[in-house]
Amino acid sequence: MAEELNPFKIAQQQLDKVAGLLNLKKGIHEYLRYPHRELTVNFPVKMDNGDIKEFTGYRVQYNNARGPCKGGIRYHWNVSLDEVRALAAWMTWKTAVVGIPYGGAKGGVICNPKEMSMGELERLTRRFTAEISPIIGPERDIPAPDVYTDAQTMAWIMDTYSMIKGYSVPGVVTGKPLHIGGSLGRNEATARGCMFTIREALKKMDYKVISPEVWNNKCETNENDNCDGDEGNGFMIDEATVAVQGFGNAGSIAATLLSEKGAKVIAVSDSKGGIINKDGLDVNDVIGHKAKTGSVTGFDGTEKLEPKQVLEVECDVLVPAALENQITGENVDNLKTKIVAEAANGPTTPEADRILFDKKIMVLPDILANAGGVTVSYFEWVQGLQSFFWSERDVNCRLKEIMVRSFDDVYKMSQKNNVDMRTGAYMLAVDRVAEAIKYRGIFP
Ligand code: NAD
Repeated sequence: MAEELNPFKIAQQQLDKVAGLLNLKKGIHEYLRYPHRELTVNFPVKMDNGDIKEFTGYRVQYNNARGPCKGGIRYHWNVSLDEVRALAAWMTWKTAVVGIPYGGAKGGVICNPKEMSMGELERLTRRFTAEISPIIGPERDIPAPDVYTDAQTMAWIMDTYSMIKGYSVPGVVTGKPLHIGGSLGRNEATARGCMFTIREALKKMDYKVISPEVWNNKCETNENDNCDGDEGNGFMIDEATVAVQGFGNAGSIAATLLSEKGAKVIAVSDSKGGIINKDGLDVNDVIGHKAKTGSVTGFDGTEKLEPKQVLEVECDVLVPAALENQITGENVDNLKTKIVAEAANGPTTPEADRILFDKKIMVLPDILANAGGVTVSYFEWVQGLQSFFWSERDVNCRLKEIMVRSFDDVYKMSQKNNVDMRTGAYMLAVDRVAEAIKYRGIFP
């Protein structure tokens, strides 16, 4: 039988697996299998050549038992309602794993942002915002950046929503530019959170790491002005080798932070292809090369890889940071890594998960490994609501505390139940959402 690749069906399978382990009541299980609210909008945008083009977009609010819905907006030609449903479900579990008071949501527009001008993207964003404005808001549902959207996109959403309301509403989105209420550290947060979980995993696997006594110091007692949330030079990942698929916000910054911590990044890729140099890449130079040429490919001193070949590079840590369904039953046997750290959402299929578990390859699941983004989004929202902004060091210290604690919770849960880390994370998350539903009760 062909492997299931529909992301929403995969998200449902993942839930079904833990419903049994948690003895979830049938009614609650069924309730959690479907999104609460879905909005599809078809809307026109005036293109630069004067033509009017019709676009389709979605906003799915999966569950709000634990608080307002939260989740990014993706611009991509392969966006579908089922993809957005899956991403909204994963947001629900992610906010629960790290214990921040949100539900889960996601949005997407079917478009090719690479072929659109800034003006076209601005008009698309503003019209899409107007279309979904009845269901978003700082207390209802708060979008953020995702694939091919960024701080500028968030600024247009914030401005459009504010124009509709008649006053400034910065809390309607997170991932904003600093000038309009963004948070220091938000741009790097997904990658930094991922780096923290990788480092915890390496510690469990007895990798050589430097200065545990420094690591154990409390941030508060640290006098120096290092603002990455670590003490002194921090806890170094000594020479672990890393391969990264996807070189955008999550991937390129994860590569930077991991190499700053002493890891050796040997291979990276983007949608156009990959590169490898077993002696290690200078990540900053690769970022400069991509900024100049539009791709990582062709970087001096490297061999070229096909986009998916990067997944099969021999390394200690593989960081998928692009899209769903990259590690499947078909290629999982070719992986030569010890840890898969899912900076991307949904990169591993359930079939691949089973095989990775059998092979004792540790998977840091998306709902844990990339939760740093939504965690600092939460910090941004809190800072905005208080109109009181924190230093970058404060942001990063608080992020580290949450990521390390969440890693420990998931690790303990998976060890206790002899399950993989994803199942451990789901057990924690689904239980927290189910408890919230139990306390709130079913209306009316
Ligand atoms: P981005 O748009 O900044 O970057 C996406 C990158 O993926 C680009 O470098 C692109 O070239 C590359 N890519 C696309 N298709 C590829 C392919 N087939 N093979 C290799 N590379 C490919 O997006 P992002 O924000 O970095 O998001 C990447 C992943 O991380 C997504 O799964 C997203 O949902 C997840 N994520 C992002 C955030 C965030 O805060 N940005 C938070 C949590 C999770």
